[in-house]
Amino acid sequence: MNRSNVKVLKRQCDSCEKTFKVKVVMPGRYRVRCPHCNNMVRFVVTKEEAPAKTVIAPRLIVPELGHAEKVKDKFYVIKKRGIVGHPYRAICPDCHTSMSIIPAEARKVLRTKCEKCGTTIAYKAVEPKG
Ligand SMILES: [Zn+2]
Ligand SMILES: [Zn+2]
Repeated sequence: MNRSNVKVLKRQCDSCEKTFKVKVVMPGRYRVRCPHCNNMVRFVVTKEEAPAKTVIAPRLIVPELGHAEKVKDKFYVIKKRGIVGHPYRAICPDCHTSMSIIPAEARKVLRTKCEKCGTTIAYKAVEPKG
């Protein structure tokens, strides 16, 4: 558990049909904003597409992103900001389903929705330093 392999995949926006690159570290469902038109693009990364050795460094897991505080029913907010392009793993506070989060843009409030129970987790992201 020392480092995580990151793989760059190309994805096509289903709105403007331009391609863009995304960084992934593990299989799972992802949502990113198209850098060209801002459309939210959803895609699935299969085990075959994911990096050969999927090792998730513990520090990349959501505790670094922060604790999800309940705001109202099925809506939680993580106060600490994520870093754009860094993968995080979030656990749904309601049903404990594990999900992948990669913040795709800075500043704005980003939301991710639990596929299983529909609970929304909101968080902010900042650009990586340097
Ligand atoms: Zn687009
Ligand atoms: Zn859930």
